[in-house]
Amino acid sequence: MHDFRYKNNKLYCENVRVEDLAKKFGTPLYVYSYHTLVDHYLKLQSAFSEIKPLICYSVKANSNLSILKALVAKGAGLDIVSGGELFRAKKVGCPAARIVYASVGKTNQEIRAAISSGILFFNVESLPELENINRIAASLDKITRVAIRINPDVEVKTHKYIMTGKLTNKFGIDLESAYKILLLRAKFRNLNICGLHIHIGSQITESEPFVEAIKKVSVFIQRLKAKGISLEYLNIGGGLGIIYDREAPQTAQIYASQIIPLLKNTGLKIIMEPGRFIVGNAGILVVKVLYVKRTLQKKFIIVDGGMNDLVRPALYSAFHNIWPLNKTAKCEKADLVGPICESGDFLAKERSIAKVKEGDYLAVMSAGAYGFSMASNYNSRGRAAEVMVSGSKAFQIRKREIPADLVRKEVISGELKKL
Ligand SMILES: *Cc1c(COP(=O)(O)O)cnc(C)c1O
Repeated sequence: MHDFRYKNNKLYCENVRVEDLAKKFGTPLYVYSYHTLVDHYLKLQSAFSEIKPLICYSVKANSNLSILKALVAKGAGLDIVSGGELFRAKKVGCPAARIVYASVGKTNQEIRAAISSGILFFNVESLPELENINRIAASLDKITRVAIRINPDVEVKTHKYIMTGKLTNKFGIDLESAYKILLLRAKFRNLNICGLHIHIGSQITESEPFVEAIKKVSVFIQRLKAKGISLEYLNIGGGLGIIYDREAPQTAQIYASQIIPLLKNTGLKIIMEPGRFIVGNAGILVVKVLYVKRTLQKKFIIVDGGMNDLVRPALYSAFHNIWPLNKTAKCEKADLVGPICESGDFLAKERSIAKVKEGDYLAVMSAGAYGFSMASNYNSRGRAAEVMVSGSKAFQIRKREIPADLVRKEVISGELKKL
């Protein structure tokens, strides 16, 4: 599953003792296992080898250049959602033909940059966006490929903030509207509408909603065929769930066996956009205990990492396992909290956590996806350092931010003195 294990009661990432990393690089510290990262990518690749999809890793899950570089080197494409992510994709040398771009709010500048780079296609989320991309492509004298993102209106069992495939969500276009657009496709002279896209949500642990959504688009693809509209690509998005606690998510194999027959039937080239599945369990956040505080009601373990480093517990009430770096049988119920001035600043609540003292370290598990990429500088805290481990080697892939980084773009204007 992943390469974070105890050996003689000490937590290791591959062959490196995590405590050595914490001491060398400081905390809070993100630690990634190269082997776990690549292994998850290869697991998907081999599960789907029969249909050889283009696997576009979802950059927003973890956009560190070294993570992207490692996956692109293995043949992955990238799924981007902004001009900033396009910049990262180019920076790591991802071939443009392996980049797809989704987002409900692409700006003209972002659209222009993506067209000029020659990305594989845009995943278009509304009619006004389609018209805008057509207009910009015309101004650049280009024909641009787009896929229509379908909102298939399927229910998924996940946190409501990460459901994206219901008609009440802002994403995609309903089937009937998409049908009308496709009938009128000749009108968009600078677009080649070459595919359909779905992405129904994240941390989905069962195959059923994927199957249901793919069935819906398959019927739609047949309906288009009957009208003489043929497409080249079906992009099935990401969303595969991982184990944070006691979930029993479908494996890559089961997921593949459920949907490959449906995908083959469409006759289209398949694209997928996994993020969390690839990187989620490849990373941990290591924090140091600052104080153990007992109040009249509770025990709080106060650590040097908080919601600005890992916002998932605060944002989604997400569960992360908390492992001590030195394994012990002695546990006690506590809240694991950060130093930030918000009651929402917790990493775990009312949990049985190893008995620790000041200076001890704890690992927040499964923090590789939507961890660092959602980090902020709230409370003027520099963002954490990131380290990658491969075998017995460990190397920094992002330096810790220092206070000067925090104010680098700020200006104390001369105008202030005149007020
Ligand atoms: C976020 C996102 C993904 C990745 O989702 P995961 O749950 O991390 O696999 C894929 N496609 C789109 C369009 C997304 O917005």
